[in-house]
Amino acid sequence: MNIPNVELPRIVIIGVGFAGLKFAKDIDTTKYQIVVLDKNNFHTFQPLLYQVASAGLEPDSIAYPIRKILGKQSNTFFRMAEVLEIDQTKQEIKTNIGNLDYDKLVIATGAGNNFFGIDSIQASAMPMKSIVEALNLRSKILENFERAINSNDKEEQKKLMNFVVVGAGPTGVELSGALAELKNKVLPKDFPDLDLKLMRIHLIEAAPRVLNVMDKKSSANANKFLKKLGVEIHTDTQVKSYLNGCVETNSENFIADTVIWAAGVKGQMPEGIKADTIGRGNRIIVNEYCQLKDNENIYVLGDVSLIQSDLYPNGLPMLASVASQQGAYLAKMMNRIVAKKSTIPFIYKDKGSMATVGKNLAVVELKKFKFQGTFAWFVWMFVHLMLLVGFRNRVIVFVNWTWNYFKYNNGLRLIIRPFRQKTTNE
Ligand SMILES: Cc1cc2nc3c(=O)[nH]c(=O)nc-3n(C[C@H](O)[C@H](O)[C@H](O)COP(=O)(O)OP(=O)(O)OC[C@H]3O[C@@H](n4cnc5c(N)ncnc54)[C@H](O)[C@@H]3O)c2cc1C
Repeated sequence: MNIPNVELPRIVIIGVGFAGLKFAKDIDTTKYQIVVLDKNNFHTFQPLLYQVASAGLEPDSIAYPIRKILGKQSNTFFRMAEVLEIDQTKQEIKTNIGNLDYDKLVIATGAGNNFFGIDSIQASAMPMKSIVEALNLRSKILENFERAINSNDKEEQKKLMNFVVVGAGPTGVELSGALAELKNKVLPKDFPDLDLKLMRIHLIEAAPRVLNVMDKKSSANANKFLKKLGVEIHTDTQVKSYLNGCVETNSENFIADTVIWAAGVKGQMPEGIKADTIGRGNRIIVNEYCQLKDNENIYVLGDVSLIQSDLYPNGLPMLASVASQQGAYLAKMMNRIVAKKSTIPFIYKDKGSMATVGKNLAVVELKKFKFQGTFAWFVWMFVHLMLLVGFRNRVIVFVNWTWNYFKYNNGLRLIIRPFRQKTTNE
């Protein structure tokens, strides 16, 4: 890889998500050479992917070019590369554009989809973990309406307009709400001659309630909001398979052309991590300094890291706030190490959680307060606007949301790149 060799120790960062980005921005580049690698040339703001999938936002408003963020930072080199393997003995990484040695390595590769070994779901359901997947979903949703309006067969129309969302965590809840708003407010304008009463949104959850990770009251409120919008909720329901357009569960079956998988994630990482350092959820086990247990030159941050404690026996939640706090923490500690100062363990500061269901419908849990409804919705919007990377993106998203608030018609429903389901041979 074409990176200059200098006197300074080299830190290689794999992944420019919330953790890698925060670390890269906060590390002292006068003391280290920083090499940043990501398979994409942009950072993705995953919490708003569902709005891209439901044609509420364009992808460029939730993605930001990495070169634009780090381009002016001294001693920092970005390469668009997929890291394939880590050779811990040689202190070297292997990528699709060449090899590179490191003094310190920061793994921040995030999480991928977890289909829990259900092959038929993996083959045919639609995940939503990346911009590409969100755009695929958007194309498929819009194409299904174009196909439905051209069909004389009621059963075919029902199948095309039946959407099954699996997993009622924040992502599933937010997406179901967005689909319901499409049905209620947007699609009647686009398809006045289509019987939209045939469109149904089923939200399937294995746990006894939606937003199972949140407080019972927030969960009950989200349930109420979803029902108000017309989402059909099926709790205590486990998906078994999705074959020939039929979702089989432990209770009823659903005929649907679109199944959206929002039910599980697992850590993703290059080859070269020893099996005994990989724990629950395919995450890499690290100590309270975010350090790999038997290799002090490797640090792991964000979704892919597993720090277990009495308070969090299953590891910290896979959240942007955890990833970002770890990135900031590690940069601070590395800056202290080079200044020969002492280090302290990482402590996660839980600032709360929130989810939105639709316009004026959200639930927010802060440390001391829990609230829901219109105020919660404005808080949700404000927090997400502030967390977006880049002033331009904030302005675009703000304008979009304001326009939609009054008009519900943003004109983003373009099928630019039709969705083509992969065959098993691809
Ligand atoms: C749909 C959705 C909604 C979410 N909503 C919320 C929310 O509302 N609030 C919240 O707090 N959290 C939310 N999350 C979770 C949050 O996005 C993650 O916790 C956070 O992104 C984790 O940050 P990270 O830095 O660990 O990984 P990521 O942000 O996933 O970044 C990983 C980076 O690594 C790169 N990468 C991976 N493998 C390689 C490789 N081998 N070589 C090179 N590059 C690689 C990827 O391209 C990516 O840029 C949501 C997640 C999803 C998918």
